[in-house]
Amino acid sequence: MTNKELANLMFPNITKTIEDYEKEYPERDLPEGAIVSRYAPSPTGFVHMGNMLSCFIEHRLPKQTKGVFYLRIEDTDQKREVEGGIESIINAINALELNYNEGVMSKDTQKGKYGPYVQSQRTEIYHTFIKYLIEQGMAYPCFCNEEELEDIRNKQKEAKARIGYYGEYAKCRNLDNEERAKKIKAGCPYTIRLKSTGNYDKKIQFKDLVKGKVIFPENDQDIVLIKSNGIPVYHFAHVVDDHLMRTTHVIRGEDWLSSVPVHVELFQKFGFKLPQYAHLGLIMIVDSNGVKRKISKRKDKDFTVESYHRRGYPIDALQEYLMTIANTNFESWRLAHPDAPLDEFEFSCSKVGSSPLFDTAKLINISKNCISKMKASELYENLIKWAEKYDEEFCKILKRNKEYTISVLNIEREQKKPRKDFSCYSDIKNFTWYMFEEYFKNNAKEYEWQNIKDKTTIKEILKDYIENYYNEEDDKDTWFDKMRNLAEKYGYAGSMKEYKANPEQYKGNITDIATAIRVGTTTCSMTPDLYEILRILGKNRIKERIDLIK
Ligand code: GLU
Repeated sequence: MTNKELANLMFPNITKTIEDYEKEYPERDLPEGAIVSRYAPSPTGFVHMGNMLSCFIEHRLPKQTKGVFYLRIEDTDQKREVEGGIESIINAINALELNYNEGVMSKDTQKGKYGPYVQSQRTEIYHTFIKYLIEQGMAYPCFCNEEELEDIRNKQKEAKARIGYYGEYAKCRNLDNEERAKKIKAGCPYTIRLKSTGNYDKKIQFKDLVKGKVIFPENDQDIVLIKSNGIPVYHFAHVVDDHLMRTTHVIRGEDWLSSVPVHVELFQKFGFKLPQYAHLGLIMIVDSNGVKRKISKRKDKDFTVESYHRRGYPIDALQEYLMTIANTNFESWRLAHPDAPLDEFEFSCSKVGSSPLFDTAKLINISKNCISKMKASELYENLIKWAEKYDEEFCKILKRNKEYTISVLNIEREQKKPRKDFSCYSDIKNFTWYMFEEYFKNNAKEYEWQNIKDKTTIKEILKDYIENYYNEEDDKDTWFDKMRNLAEKYGYAGSMKEYKANPEQYKGNITDIATAIRVGTTTCSMTPDLYEILRILGKNRIKERIDLIK
């Protein structure tokens, strides 16, 4: 029986050839140097920032070279698949604006000429390609069951030989086609293995764009390509898909690095051009005990992309942050170009660090900076977008009081040294709640009174202030002069200098008066600029607040 007859027996319904697919998915018509790369996650339902780091890099290279970035869903391992897994991947990518040109656009829609982009929909393609290898005698059915494989492993352990299915240990490698056909016809389950022609004593060498020169022994393992259920393993799907989708750069986790010899052999067997490889170090975090470790699905719910969005980090901050992890030379570039758009930085695979570390303190810093540079109206729009999703009640309040909120957000903003206390959108309510009546009325209970504690005195000072000193139109200097006058009227020094010169002559100084007004109108002893707060609150609100002091 010829290999071709065996192949037909195994795949009677496959009538297409690999040439048909070559024609169906031709070379892409792209400018010289354009990179085609993909994000190829498995829909496991856990999308964390480490995943987004590779997605970010995979997105960046095509962006820089006018290439193509696409999304492929690798769902060949059904055990790991989770309901809603595809949606959470797409949401995570969209939320970071890592826009892609083609691939899986939603659970039910795909875009592009190189699909289907979901592996479970590509069975016919995989079967055509494996059928070709069988016809060529480059792959064969293997009937070994678990016990037989265990047996082989035990023999290898005894003989102190390498573990695996190769050479003399590859039991089914040398069955003749008649025997194979007989077993298949009898309904014996089988996998399909590569008939490797590699030599373990020889080395292959290739250039990884991140790791540099890499040397491995050739592959000589007859690895399983198609499982007994007809589904391909990662290695086989990778070669077929990345070839047919005309991927130029395969960027993926370094856990795949040692499999490259298998991939090289498969690309060679098909006569396909090898893509460029870039293997990224596994992202690590420092946990609350100070221990550096891998991100864990069980322990690190806070690292999901969703949880970053819930906290409300601006997209620009997250992208900027991913770049600091992605390229070791980015931070010095940023110092030299503090206001340049991120796109002006040229990402390079050779500057990817070997063990990327996720450092939340750094993200917070970047994010504070990013928010501080936003104009009040821009921050308002971003905050609304965030609140629509994560804080409906706040959102209603913000929408009801648009102009007012923009003034609140503008306190110590749009100036040379803007405030930097907001690290994410979810911080804003905590820092501004007292400016909104809806929150103030219910929450004005714990006043942080300082030196002046007596409520009667406080109310007297505040009433005097609002009736006789307050004017919304005053500029800052006039406002301050009035504060000084008020302080002096009540026996407090009008300046620190005067107070320090003769402390015994005064009850305190202007700060005590300002603090009493600050706490009386906001409940907080620490706030941004009091002048702006009082101006924005306005006379009526301040009066109402004075009445609330009990
Ligand atoms: N589905 C593979 C994974 O999640 C993708 C690896 C690759 O990008 O080729 O590890």
